[in-house]
Amino acid sequence: MEIVSQKEILKTHVRTWKGMGKTIGFVPTMGALHQGHISLIREAARQCDVVVVSIFVNALQFNNADDLEKYPRTLKSDLKLLQSEKVALVFTPENDVFYARRPQVTLNFGPVGEEFEGKLRPGHFSGVGVVVSRLFHLVQPDKAFFGAKDLQQMAIIQTLVRDLEFDVEIVRCPTHREDSGLAMSSRNALLSKEGRHLAALLFESLKLASEMRTSMGLPASASVARAFLVKHPDISIEYINWVDTTTMQPVEKNDSNQEIAICVAARIEGVRLIDNLIV
Ligand code: AMP
Repeated sequence: MEIVSQKEILKTHVRTWKGMGKTIGFVPTMGALHQGHISLIREAARQCDVVVVSIFVNALQFNNADDLEKYPRTLKSDLKLLQSEKVALVFTPENDVFYARRPQVTLNFGPVGEEFEGKLRPGHFSGVGVVVSRLFHLVQPDKAFFGAKDLQQMAIIQTLVRDLEFDVEIVRCPTHREDSGLAMSSRNALLSKEGRHLAALLFESLKLASEMRTSMGLPASASVARAFLVKHPDISIEYINWVDTTTMQPVEKNDSNQEIAICVAARIEGVRLIDNLIV
């Protein structure tokens, strides 16, 4: 496994692989790797000849300086974890080298980026779009693997690829969970044991909404899920809504040819967590 921090060296490897006709699978991450990331990497290894993983905490996508500062950084153990996976190259650029000049381009994704995360984290999706575009140009992947956990991000990336004609297939991978149901996340490391306990209730609430949706309808089932969480004063809900997974617009009725999900964002012990359940 090559560990590369320079863009030029990465590009040389990419040219070599392309010359040999190998397909490239790409998994972009911000590090603090867990089994959710590993599940994406294994899927990439299953579908492609070589796997490239990037580890880069992208300052551009943080709308909150404190969140950026607190974001867990565990490069040494991340690299150790990746050693036992089928990873050809890990790209770990330094911020000042990757963004030698702060990008001036901003991206607006239209309605798909306006609700939920887009509304609550101004500039977040622009930062995601810029870093993913830059990484796609450098890595030139045949396929890129993203987690369904970040559902709106998934829709944003699909929009980016379609509107700007990136020649890459986006693969959505299922959310990997702890036994408790808690969606794995780098941010879980910032929670106490009690906080993790509470965080597992987010998934319970999503399951509740999902079970109730046919008998009660979508809005009432979301209200049941909200009422379930509200009983816990240490969970501060930002939203819990049914959405169309393609348009990321709220939905009140389930049209049969539309994929929907119940999405939640909440703060526990000052840590912002998101999760969803696609039905
Ligand atoms: P991050 O490092 O949080 O930016 O995530 C990197 C990639 O891993 C994104 O595509 C995420 O959606 C994905 N990911 C994060 N957590 C999970 C999880 N629990 N299961 C599956 N994929 C995940």
